[in-house]
Amino acid sequence: MRRSVFAVCFAFSICVSSIVVAEPLKVLIVDGQNNHNWQGTTPVMKKYLEESKQFTVDVATSPAKGQDMSGFKPDFAKYDVVLLNYNGDLWSKETRQALVDYVQGGGGLAVIHAANNSFGDWPEYNRMIGLGGWGGRNEKSGPYVRFRDGKIVRDESPGPGGHHGKQHPFHVTVRNADHPITRGMPASWLHAQDELYDKLRGPAEAIDVLATAYADPATGGSGEHEPMIFTVTYGKGRVFHTPMGHSPETMHCVGFITTLVRGCEWAATGDVKSGEVPKDFPKADAVSIRGGRFE
Ligand code: ZN
Repeated sequence: MRRSVFAVCFAFSICVSSIVVAEPLKVLIVDGQNNHNWQGTTPVMKKYLEESKQFTVDVATSPAKGQDMSGFKPDFAKYDVVLLNYNGDLWSKETRQALVDYVQGGGGLAVIHAANNSFGDWPEYNRMIGLGGWGGRNEKSGPYVRFRDGKIVRDESPGPGGHHGKQHPFHVTVRNADHPITRGMPASWLHAQDELYDKLRGPAEAIDVLATAYADPATGGSGEHEPMIFTVTYGKGRVFHTPMGHSPETMHCVGFITTLVRGCEWAATGDVKSGEVPKDFPKADAVSIRGGRFE
């Protein structure tokens, strides 16, 4: 009797150990200061990352603007991806160095919308995010990066960094369909109403532009095809960056959700194994909003 119980237990343990259950990836969203509604956008991103079943999400909220930042020390090294939803006061030297060390050492970084406005005078930050806007950025920050005549070009002409026209739905056009983040997306899809950032500039080292959007002068844009989904390699780390995501409402766009989830998975692991683009992904001529929001 004892022997047979042992045999059953033994067989069971072999069976259980042979099932490979992927550990969820750990994401840390950093917020607390932003000229945008971070109290509204962080929960939306957290919800969609968790719903993907691939991530657990913690949030590190900084002190408010003008408060003492010396005690703000998120433990970046505990995470697979640090998602920046922060545009505010400079962090302590120690915290800045911790982020640099984390990404240099192979950590994943995700940069969303106005996070690329932050820290204009922090050179390593600008190398990590590739391109940024406002915050004193200009030709000294690096080139504009545009898609012209079938290829990505660096435009060194003088001018400010960061601009947008009025909000509207706009087409996101895939320029690299072989990348795990964009694989299987329609060649062009209609993103829900958002701010279309143009004239971003920065060091743009080791940058891979996966998708662009045309900033139409008719809506106040630059008249250029501007980077809308891109990656940066920084040390051993992978950076996923999208200037989309102005408001909580626009984050219910299935195109944004898919880009966010895939971008974070890629930043963490270097690949995307979460499958096909969802059935409700936007079409070339139709936005797709999950949950009937933003009506
Ligand atoms: Zn905005």
